[in-house]
Amino acid sequence: MSEIVLRAVGLGRTYTQGPQPVEVLRSVDIEIRRGETVAIVGASGSGKSTLLHCLGGLDTPTTGSVEIDGQALSTLNEAQKGALRNRTLGFVYQFHHLLPEFTAQENVAMPLLIRREGRKAALGAALGALTDVGLEHRVGHTPAELSGGERQRAAIARALVTRPQCVLADEPTGNLDRDTARAVFGVMVALQNKVGTGIVVVTHDRELASRMGRVLELNAGRLTSAK
Ligand code: ADP
Ligand code: MG
Repeated sequence: MSEIVLRAVGLGRTYTQGPQPVEVLRSVDIEIRRGETVAIVGASGSGKSTLLHCLGGLDTPTTGSVEIDGQALSTLNEAQKGALRNRTLGFVYQFHHLLPEFTAQENVAMPLLIRREGRKAALGAALGALTDVGLEHRVGHTPAELSGGERQRAAIARALVTRPQCVLADEPTGNLDRDTARAVFGVMVALQNKVGTGIVVVTHDRELASRMGRVLELNAGRLTSAK
């Protein structure tokens, strides 16, 4: 395992779908160390999601390189990239993306079931992850039976059940009221302390961002330190 979990060098991303090319990222450099917590802030449309997708191997940069756990993504095929991503990273989005017909416990177990772990072990690990986010009393509920904050906590449990080195979270509390957002953010910080998972979180909320070890700002396609 590499000490640097994520590294991007000279990262550029230009979209060419529209009438004019849109240069969203220009020469972004970033290094995320094991267990580190980083917030990325920036105006809407500044490229935060694009950056997270490139770092997570979900999007391919136009220029520059990305390494996950010391492996350059450009040297891997899609299947190898997927395997590296599943082994190393967890993802949390603004909308929970829980499957409506499954319980919280089954949803959280899903990444392990997809890896072909046994059902009993997967459900046991899911119970542990749900307990870590304070949802042990909601394991049998479906997403529709959970509050917004509870759904996001379940999504965090699902991202952490594989014990990733780093979680990439794209506005995970953007859909929640302020108090609930604070509580959900608190759960992420507590988990980071407990299991040492690194966090890269995109947020609009400067106060929440300041709870991370570093705050970086994306502006005009460039990433700079915000404090
Ligand atoms: P943020 O997450 O900071 O709000 P995004 O990374 O989603 O910003 O988008 C940055 C810019 O790139 C926006 O101007 C957006 O319209 C554009 N963009 C994002 N995805 C695409 C795409 N698939 N094709 C074309 N333009 C895109
Ligand atoms: Mg976004």
